[in-house]
Amino acid sequence: MRDNAWVATSKRILVTGGAGYIGSNTTLQLLDAGYDVVVVDNLSRGHRESVDPARLRVVDLLDTDGLVRVMNENPCDAVIHFAAYIAVGESMKVPEVYFRNNTAGSLSLLTAMLKTGIRNIVFSSTAAVYGMPAHVPISESEPYAPVNAYGESKVMVEKMLDWFDIIHGLRSVCLRYFNAAGADPDCRAGENHEPETHLIPLILKAAQTGNPVTLFGNDYPTPDGTCIRDYIHVSDLARAHISALESLAKGGESKKYNVGTGHGYSVQEVVNAVREVTGRDVPFVFGPRREGDPPLLVADSTRLQHELGWKPVDSDLKRIVETAWQWANR
Ligand code: UDP
Repeated sequence: MRDNAWVATSKRILVTGGAGYIGSNTTLQLLDAGYDVVVVDNLSRGHRESVDPARLRVVDLLDTDGLVRVMNENPCDAVIHFAAYIAVGESMKVPEVYFRNNTAGSLSLLTAMLKTGIRNIVFSSTAAVYGMPAHVPISESEPYAPVNAYGESKVMVEKMLDWFDIIHGLRSVCLRYFNAAGADPDCRAGENHEPETHLIPLILKAAQTGNPVTLFGNDYPTPDGTCIRDYIHVSDLARAHISALESLAKGGESKKYNVGTGHGYSVQEVVNAVREVTGRDVPFVFGPRREGDPPLLVADSTRLQHELGWKPVDSDLKRIVETAWQWANR
């Protein structure tokens, strides 16, 4: 335990990207848990209607002075930093946008935190920091090996955070998400990307519209030939952030954790689950492989489970699909 455990002055958390998918779900859970929340979002990809207007401050991450103003006006104990672009394909066309928004934006945020004395942050990282890992399930000791600019933009922030701890005592928990999916069980928040690139919302759209979804590749070295991923319910993911905050509040050290279930489902199994849950046909066609897709990505999340006492409770595939379907039909 370090001597800079919080004396929780306000129990107020600044959430960047709180108008986005995981940010809006986590904000709801923070409020449910009794935290006060201020959201910073530039609304470039998030949705205004996802945030209580009284909590929203429309500020760009690169506007360090604007962030300092928000932090001075709303003294906070910690930051949860979601705001980022997430489209892997886009990051390989315009990497400059990803390094500017994700990496330089994070540096601006950390600078504002230093200026205002906030010394705790939970950072949205990603399994993309591992690239095509040699060992699955993937543990946190697997080396950094991103294969796209998105993953690299997150690696760079993780590395900055290491130096900011050593030099400034700014403590961080990096949560490396696997495949976030599902929606708030009370249907208050869910996934709404524009354009949508994620598998489950696209399959649900096929079930709704009858227009086929394209499944990327059926010749992978997996039992049914389609890729296997570790789908984690967004509510479980949100709870991981609260566990991370609590660990920082107790004076815990800076840490990096995988957030996944340890269980993988193939793309074909997801299609089957959607058929079962919705009772509808899911038209699909097989297309070529998507560049950069590893056949198998499954998390070893024992570190998070053992050290922070977190465990997935909503990440059964059926529950993920049920909540996502409820959200899609809201
Ligand atoms: N996928 C697919 N068709 C789509 C979108 C995704 O077959 O239209 C596959 C993709 O190749 C991967 C899995 O679904 O194997 C999950 O992809 P997603 O983009 O949802 O998440 P990622 O694993 O890229 O983070």
